[in-house]
Amino acid sequence: MLLPAHHSRDIERKPEYLQPEKCAPPARPGPAGTMWFIRDGCGIACAIVTWFLVLYAEFVVVFVMLIPSRDYVYSVINGVVFNLLAFLALASHCRAMLTDPGAVPKGNATKEFIESLQLKPGQVVYKCPKCCSIKPDRAHHCSVCKRCIRKMDHHCPWVNNCVGESNQKYFVLFTMYIALISLHALVMVGFHFLHCFEEDWTKCSSFSPPTTVILLILLCFEGLLFLIFTSVMFGTQVHSICTDETGIERLQRESRPREHRRSWRSVKETFGGDFSLNWCNPFSGPWQPEIPVDKDLVRQESSPSDTDVTDTTEHSEGTKDEDSVEVTDE
Ligand SMILES: [Zn+2]
Ligand SMILES: [Zn+2]
Repeated sequence: MLLPAHHSRDIERKPEYLQPEKCAPPARPGPAGTMWFIRDGCGIACAIVTWFLVLYAEFVVVFVMLIPSRDYVYSVINGVVFNLLAFLALASHCRAMLTDPGAVPKGNATKEFIESLQLKPGQVVYKCPKCCSIKPDRAHHCSVCKRCIRKMDHHCPWVNNCVGESNQKYFVLFTMYIALISLHALVMVGFHFLHCFEEDWTKCSSFSPPTTVILLILLCFEGLLFLIFTSVMFGTQVHSICTDETGIERLQRESRPREHRRSWRSVKETFGGDFSLNWCNPFSGPWQPEIPVDKDLVRQESSPSDTDVTDTTEHSEGTKDEDSVEVTDE
């Protein structure tokens, strides 16, 4: 249902229009420090497979290639580097999985809260009809996490979590370290094959030659697959951070161009301040880990000429994921 622009502005400033009575009061927050964990069977299975594959690579590198090698210096240096990178990859995975990606408080679209925002003429707020939260600018609803996530990039089953404002750093580090251990493993397999073709295969590994070859070929496949997949993902993520544009925004760009911020600021916010070794440290958080509750909640209305207002009661499942003034181009 379309309404004239002047009529729509009257409606928008009334909290009743957002039907806050339909929202359950916010769930009582759990005890402080409650761990963030998404209970999604597919995501948990993918996360376990990720760990299994990294541990398989560890096993082959250490027990098939390095320990049987007679070159002590080669084994120690490669062993230390590979294990350090694998540890950082798994630590980044844990941090990406167990960090709140920037979830908006659930059910905060109450009448009192909307009134407390004191909307001025031309200002609007958006309500997510699925989780009953007031949706900040650049937030999107994730159907797996069942929450609205600030600066949501995508939901990644491999880390069983959304990639958003607060955990993108860990996700980028995870893809980087997996790409590095994949490359390192491939180089070591290459050296091992070269070395063993020259020598007697039985002296090359404590396993039988057929078992050794099968284990190494499987590691090669795994390494190649993960190297390609994670380096593409790493490149895409770094590009997203540098242009300050999430994956979802990139998909929407054709219908609604948005202004880019200076990219260096976005990079510093994501990785945690000025450039330092901490950028590569999964135990050090991004900048501004504490997000103010009302940050970016109130937005300026789009220009009246392109503002179509529809009736929220006609909301259809799946076609639109937010409600409020219902500016249809959002
Ligand atoms: Zn939502
Ligand atoms: Zn999600």
